[in-house]
Amino acid sequence: MTIIRVALDIPIDSLFDYIAPDATQLDIGSYARVPFGKKFMIGIILAISDDAHVSHDKLKQADEILRNIPPIPPALIELFEFCSHYYHYPIGRVIMNGVPTRLRSIKPVPQRFITSFLFRLTETGYAIALSSTPGRSKTKHHLLTHLKEVGTITSKEAKQLSQRAPKLLQEFLAQGWVEKILEEPEFTPNINASPILQLTTEQITAINTIQAEIGLFNTWLLHGITGSGKTEVYLQITSMLLKQKRQVLILVPEINLTPRLEEIFRSRFPNTHLISLHSKLNPTERMNGWLQAQRGEASIVLGTRLAIFTPLPKLGLIIVDEEHDPSFKQQDGLRYSARDIAIFRAKQANAPILLGSATPSLESYYNTITGRYRRILLRARAVKNATLPIIHYVNTRSVQLKEGLSEQLLIALERTLTQKQQSMVFINRRGYAPVLLCKSCTWLATCSRCSSRLVVHLTQKNLRCHYCGYTEQLPPACPQCGDQDLMPFGHGTQRIEAALAKLFPHARILRVDRDNTRGKEAWQLILNAIHKQQVDILVGTQLLAKGHDFPNLSLVGVLNADTSLYSMDFRAEERLFAQLMQVAGRAGRAETAGEVLIQTEFPNHPLYLALQHHDYDAYAQILLREREITHFPPYSHQALLNAEAPHIAAAIEFLSMASKLVEPGKQIEIFDPVPAQMTRLKGLERAYLLVQSHSRKKLQLFLSEWYIKLCKIPHGKVRWALDVDPSEF
Ligand code: ADP
Ligand code: ZN
Ligand code: ZN
Repeated sequence: MTIIRVALDIPIDSLFDYIAPDATQLDIGSYARVPFGKKFMIGIILAISDDAHVSHDKLKQADEILRNIPPIPPALIELFEFCSHYYHYPIGRVIMNGVPTRLRSIKPVPQRFITSFLFRLTETGYAIALSSTPGRSKTKHHLLTHLKEVGTITSKEAKQLSQRAPKLLQEFLAQGWVEKILEEPEFTPNINASPILQLTTEQITAINTIQAEIGLFNTWLLHGITGSGKTEVYLQITSMLLKQKRQVLILVPEINLTPRLEEIFRSRFPNTHLISLHSKLNPTERMNGWLQAQRGEASIVLGTRLAIFTPLPKLGLIIVDEEHDPSFKQQDGLRYSARDIAIFRAKQANAPILLGSATPSLESYYNTITGRYRRILLRARAVKNATLPIIHYVNTRSVQLKEGLSEQLLIALERTLTQKQQSMVFINRRGYAPVLLCKSCTWLATCSRCSSRLVVHLTQKNLRCHYCGYTEQLPPACPQCGDQDLMPFGHGTQRIEAALAKLFPHARILRVDRDNTRGKEAWQLILNAIHKQQVDILVGTQLLAKGHDFPNLSLVGVLNADTSLYSMDFRAEERLFAQLMQVAGRAGRAETAGEVLIQTEFPNHPLYLALQHHDYDAYAQILLREREITHFPPYSHQALLNAEAPHIAAAIEFLSMASKLVEPGKQIEIFDPVPAQMTRLKGLERAYLLVQSHSRKKLQLFLSEWYIKLCKIPHGKVRWALDVDPSEF
């Protein structure tokens, strides 16, 4: 009996067996429609076997193997299996996380979306004598003759030949007379990659270094300061691989924030098929992108973290832009790091991978020290005469602030306005004010579902939770004591915007934060306004810091940076440093020198000193030494067991029980369960347990054993999840 073993989108880490008499080894990777409970589901065939793992009377018959959809290629299945093992997550869930929803739906995919394969005669096929096929099998004779003349045939052509021909082709396939190949996409030789710019010496060195080993797996860390021209390096290397007819995968942290990159690649390679994969696509668009990539028609795939799971039969290069960005890590479901998986994938394809950043993650930086990655430095700005901005600090302990703004900053803003240049005021809080406070009884507006304070949004006249989205009207009086004198406390983007409007009545001010940038169009409008100089002062959150190029921006003011300096999360400082380097990098990108003013209570903090000298390496060294002493990554490897329950006690109890399931062994450290920093979130209370080891291998061995036991213990109302290489605490 032939059994197909299918991966389904079910939270159980095993394959499901079905009878499929017509299945062959060639069906591995194919989509199959199978009954599950009372309904049907689409699964992926991962194995064919003669015998089932369950008793025969329990076996059901598979409904259909969907051979019209190109099967998932072996390399991608291998990648899924790696993720399932590494992140300890059910294989079916891993696969279904990566495969487009439209292909996972039991609604049949119309044939017009799927270009047929070619069936190509093999040598065995050629060797079959026509005379050996009996005369009564006319169609067979006919088909074989046709193949011997032309060499290949599509299913569609076969159907025109005879209704029976497609079925015969499957037989030929099983006998090894023909093989299934992807239709060769038409090659467009017009790759217009001649550099428009005169490359800088550093760019030339970078390009030559990578080119010397272009056909080999290597992890290159392209560490180039903001404005050093990393994009041009990406473009040049991409062009080399396009000439070799290879596919290029480009990962970006957030597609809405980097429309520029897509534009640049499209205009540099106008005749190359580029697809952009991101969360705003509808299911059909996403499926089309996936299939085009799988057929090799798309030569450049640009996308957010999910794009790492795109089938790319001719993968020749991966670029991860802004590799330090935390958005490459998914925070729920399959908690994967697209950057880390990208390295696995590049290795698998024996292709180079370029990690680009002005502020590499400490992990990547450390890997260049140990020699696992190779660092290429771009130390100077690419535009002639463009220099790095001068950074000043305003000690907020010794000066008076007016609506959160210092005198020095106001003077600098005034000067920039008169010079007809742009300024940016950076504040890491959206909304009007972070809290609503009652002066008489000290009541604070808090979220009932999270342990967070509600943020005042004056323009919309409401209070909002930035964690769960809960919104309520601004109360007219204090709900606790009835006093009407409620006061917004602290500063958010809206409040700073209002203050600036009052102080500079003639300036054109634009606020940029999550509240007014939903949708791709919104961003485009904002960027256009900035580029057309229709804005004098930008007020925004870190959204503004990511990867933009504003040539006329010459002043950046930073308001409340200190909040991250003494955080519970050991990565907070690293992130603050990266963020400030990026923000500072926005100033003076073209020929106008830039200035950065940072308001802080701790101007002598090593972070600020290193920042002032634009010295990434110095600060990275300091942080690394701290991590070494505290045994934190990159000097150790971590995993978190997260638990959430209606009450914290249940979550903690579950974690304590979990911590005793497996004898940890010498090199594994299990910490005590602790409540999460945001204990209450969306009505549930959360806690976690940290596991750590110097050896990734030992940690993985422990996790494998632990995971099996965790799946078996009763957990009542507790929901748990493992997070390997966690990035947030
Ligand atoms: P990065 O991504 O490293 O921050 P970009 O690639 O955005 O920097 O380049 C910054 C600016 O420098 C862009 O406006 C780009 O057009 C320009 N640029 C890049 N290379 C050169 C070059 N060789 N000569 C002149 N300008 C360049
Ligand atoms: Zn009150
Ligand atoms: Zn909330």
